[in-house]
Amino acid sequence: MTVQQIQPVVPAQGRRFRAYSAKHLDQLTARAGLGEAERLAVRAVATVLPFRTNDYVLESLIDWSAAPHDPIYRLVFPQADMLPPEDVAPIASLLARGAPEQELQAAAHAVRRRLNPHPAGQLALNVPDLADEPLPGVQHKYPETMLIFPRQGQTCHAYCTYCFRWAQFVGEPDLKMATDDMTRVVAYLAAHPEITSVLVTGGDPMIMGTGVLRRYVEPLLGLEQLESIRIGTKALSYWPQRFVSDPDADDALRLFEQVSRAGKTLALMAHFTHPRELEPALVARAIGRIRAAGAVIRTQAPLIRTINDDPVTWSGMWRTQLRLGLVPYYLFVERDTGPQGYFAVPLVRAAEIFREAYSSVSGLCRTVRGPSMSATPGKVCVDGVADVAGQRVFVLHMIQARDPSLVGRPFFARFDPDAVWLSDLEPAFADRFPFESGPGPQFAAVGSDSELLASAD
Ligand SMILES: *Cc1c(COP(=O)(O)O)cnc(C)c1O
Repeated sequence: MTVQQIQPVVPAQGRRFRAYSAKHLDQLTARAGLGEAERLAVRAVATVLPFRTNDYVLESLIDWSAAPHDPIYRLVFPQADMLPPEDVAPIASLLARGAPEQELQAAAHAVRRRLNPHPAGQLALNVPDLADEPLPGVQHKYPETMLIFPRQGQTCHAYCTYCFRWAQFVGEPDLKMATDDMTRVVAYLAAHPEITSVLVTGGDPMIMGTGVLRRYVEPLLGLEQLESIRIGTKALSYWPQRFVSDPDADDALRLFEQVSRAGKTLALMAHFTHPRELEPALVARAIGRIRAAGAVIRTQAPLIRTINDDPVTWSGMWRTQLRLGLVPYYLFVERDTGPQGYFAVPLVRAAEIFREAYSSVSGLCRTVRGPSMSATPGKVCVDGVADVAGQRVFVLHMIQARDPSLVGRPFFARFDPDAVWLSDLEPAFADRFPFESGPGPQFAAVGSDSELLASAD
């Protein structure tokens, strides 16, 4: 194993942010001890999917003595087998013979098109209209919540290998959604008083300088209807300096205070994938400052095979979060996009992991919900497996739905040990799922079973 030192280990605090990209990948994977062929395959994967990391992740989070099996290494470094070999091999040969960039990009483009870049109908179904013109960079799927994707906030301090928004970062303009037109956004909100929560997301809005972030947040403060402004971010994990020592850290905290003073909650929706991300002392300092600014921090992450797929990882993470004053919010199922095949955990196992973790923590951690699939009809929660009238089924309910009348109503799917996503499921005791439209009654006339369930509905 060749452990190549890239640079001296120095504390990341106090240093300016510097990103590492695909061009540093060969050096970095050599540090993890990968051989030449594997390093080439990793570069091929990184031609298709985005790669970016930084000093803090490299020096304060990754355990290099455990790489390439270390979960944080796996969280940020592409894996040679993340994509099918028939996609990786041709790109690896192009790289090996120094093919021109154009040829590489054409090959990468073809692979990306096969990876379902915009799951859950994001580009078409959720983009609203204002005065009969589409409002790009905005999603309005559930009545009370609107998402904004700020144009300058569509990168992150580091990328997660499993990212469901990977298409935002690969430089294909037609795969991107973003806005910088707050005048139209505010006009849309004024026309939709049912919206009480705006979620600023990305990418990572905290990648923006505070001056730019302010241009997105301040126009929202005068809207009486808004109860909360949320910022989706992984900066607490990947660059906690953003809230402590960056030149505009204090200004970001003042902006958070301004939101509270305007009579709204600023909720930082923090993405934590693994308990190790909470260990550095710098994270506790950042959390302390954010909370002192009157903001609440809620946490969420997907369940990812080989990174956090065991109950002890989750219960440990929720407990540490509780100690630090954070509120566990969602455990997601890895979405049906990008390298889903590589990271997916079967739904039956996901429900088991959730239940085991959930049953071992105090009630204050049980604010968390999941495992939740953000799918086209809404957020579908897998409650578990049950035997009903002699049939093994998944019990499910919708946490959020395009059609709010479906929220919170139990429904059933036939048990399938291999199912990893909603699209793998078939309805049980009914001819379709409640969110599927169709003629006639939803529940099939199959005798006493259906009567039993119809009355439960
Ligand atoms: C999850 C999500 C929201 C927010 O839902 P909450 O349950 O309020 O957290 C809003 N819009 C979309 C598209 C989402 O996926």
